[in-house]
Amino acid sequence: METKILPIDGRSLAQAKDIISSGGAVAFPTETVYGLGANALDDGAVRNIFAIKGRPSDNPLIVHVHSGYDITRLVARVPDYAKLLAKAFLPGPLTMVYESLNKVSPAVSCGLDTLAIRVPSHAGAQEFLRYVDLPIAAPSANISKHVSPVTAQHVYDDLKGRIELVLDGGKCTGGIESTVLDCTGDIPCVLRSGLVTADMIAQVAGECHEYVMKDGEKVRSPGMKYKHYSPNCRTILFEYAERQRAFTEYSRLIEEGKRVYFMCENAVFEEFRPKFALNLGNDEREIASNLYDKLREGEMVADIIVAVAPRKRDGVMVGVMNRMRKAFG
Ligand code: AMP
Ligand code: MG
Repeated sequence: METKILPIDGRSLAQAKDIISSGGAVAFPTETVYGLGANALDDGAVRNIFAIKGRPSDNPLIVHVHSGYDITRLVARVPDYAKLLAKAFLPGPLTMVYESLNKVSPAVSCGLDTLAIRVPSHAGAQEFLRYVDLPIAAPSANISKHVSPVTAQHVYDDLKGRIELVLDGGKCTGGIESTVLDCTGDIPCVLRSGLVTADMIAQVAGECHEYVMKDGEKVRSPGMKYKHYSPNCRTILFEYAERQRAFTEYSRLIEEGKRVYFMCENAVFEEFRPKFALNLGNDEREIASNLYDKLREGEMVADIIVAVAPRKRDGVMVGVMNRMRKAFG
């Protein structure tokens, strides 16, 4: 199968709609990462997504809808705090989990009685979702466990020959996957951290919990248990306080003749001035936005990435550190 990358216009949207209506999958941009979308109402189409990615069959998918879509067609109970949160943060990088009405394929939620819904803010994503006017089940458009794609080229690199069409909406600005928020209880609970932080949610909803898995408990956000986001090269992660040791190790590996890159935020780059650097940038938004792009760049040029965790640890950095730890194993 030939894989085309096309800009988003009338022609490509018509093609996308044809593919989706016939049970196929289309990659599309969002403000977080690129998604691999299929008709959530079509069982075969949803199963096909798992097959294309090699995704474990117990890792549920998020359903994407346009901003005019009435989600009560899909979910049972939308608590008042969820309405406030939707008003404050949607469209945007916040996925909300509700009790499902079981209107979509059971493969979407992998047997859970809940459904995760997201309304992306990316203009191209909105155009695509409005054009097909169907709930679109979509995980990130990468081979399972690889780094999530933030450009159309990244999608192509992973999925060429496996899908027909990548809608190209430029580089994703958010850079890490959406916050996943459980809205089935009396108090919202963050299952996966992202750009919409627990503090931001608490400010609107009054309270917000953060999920910590207890020993022996059944995981509530199944995706979190998998190794994820890994570049195809060796990786070593140092804490911020150990950055001098990280630089020494990087220098030692270079002496050994290895192709080594030093991944760090800009302030640490300025401190050591490594010759082979993957500079994540300055503030938390920039670091989030650059992380996957730099991991993918790194695996192309390096045998080993030596990384230093960013200094800041709260806010958006909770989500960034969560991804860094998984990427660096
Ligand atoms: P991905 O699209 O690859 O970012 O993965 C979506 C993630 O959303 C999954 O790995 C789960 O952690 C989470 N998710 C999706 N549906 C549900 C659900 N019904 N309940 C809890 N978490 C969910
Ligand atoms: Mg993913």
